Amino acid sequence: MATATWSPGSGDILLGVMGDPIAQSRSPIMHTAALRAMGIPGAYVPLHVTPDKLGEAVQAIRTLGFRGVNVTIPHKVAVMAYLDVLDESAIDIGAVNTIVNTNGLLTGYNTDGIGYVRSLKTEVIPDLSGARIMVIGAGGAARGITAALLQEEPSSIIVANRTAGKAQELAAEWSRKGNITGISLDQAEGMLDGIDVIINTTSVGMYPHMDETPVDVSLFHEGMIISDLIYNPLQTRLLQESQERGCRIHGGLGMFVYQGAYALEYWTGQPAPTEIMRQTILDCLGGSA
Ligand code: NAP
Repeated sequence: MATATWSPGSGDILLGVMGDPIAQSRSPIMHTAALRAMGIPGAYVPLHVTPDKLGEAVQAIRTLGFRGVNVTIPHKVAVMAYLDVLDESAIDIGAVNTIVNTNGLLTGYNTDGIGYVRSLKTEVIPDLSGARIMVIGAGGAARGITAALLQEEPSSIIVANRTAGKAQELAAEWSRKGNITGISLDQAEGMLDGIDVIINTTSVGMYPHMDETPVDVSLFHEGMIISDLIYNPLQTRLLQESQERGCRIHGGLGMFVYQGAYALEYWTGQPAPTEIMRQTILDCLGGSA
């Protein structure tokens, strides 16, 4: 078995991201810039892995001496079966986006939810304890961020989804971790009054359907925090109109940066250069800081 624990002075670090397709992923460019800024020699490469080859590809992490990889669509759930250890974050969410190789022992983590919460706390609201939160959507991204939000001891979380049953299932599963309820998206608009933070985790408003919003923004009140996981476009219509109404806004770019930052920190044991990572993606998207 290859020795693959990386430490400063131990030579080049090998990292990558597995997905199908993978050419569109911006992780390689972001992590390559980060490694350079950290002065760590090595490479972060895109790895095109089809579902039928996933087991072999995971074994190759050990064989080739990769220190770690990110895992993206469609492998986040299926990859769990091939790992030696699953961190609590991965078990709770039921998906892995980061693998760490320690002398051939592969551990799966999920940094999506904690990445989102680190972004929200760094950029808009440092303390979420006591906050009344509404999460719109109940898909994979909503699962990750809801699990991480519950750790912050909010006063309540309402999950509102087009398919109400999925929101109710998610809430029932995590009711032992906090005050969480599931409702339909139709009910959401009548419950906005007492809400401090609204988070869109649906794909509504994403390129190329940029004129759509998941809820009626005219019902939002001044001072509310409106967050959107979408980062293409960098500012969705939901965020633009919310800002015009006097709300504080938060886009999805930070989630992408911080999920990667956590992974890099697990692999290297060193703080990730998050500002450089953010600027690298902004440059790619043609935006400004
Ligand atoms: P997913 O598992 O497919 O879930 C999609 C969710 O959106 C479901 O709750 C679905 O409701 C809802 N939805 C879809 N179309 C809708 C519509 N027209 N009206 C109302 N609700 C609708 O997807 P996901 O992986 O959670 O990703 C969701 C979004 O998060 C995507 O835009 C993705 O780009 C973004 N994201 C961002 C980051 C980041 O780093 N910033 C990371 C992950 C994901 P139903 O259950 O009723 O179908």
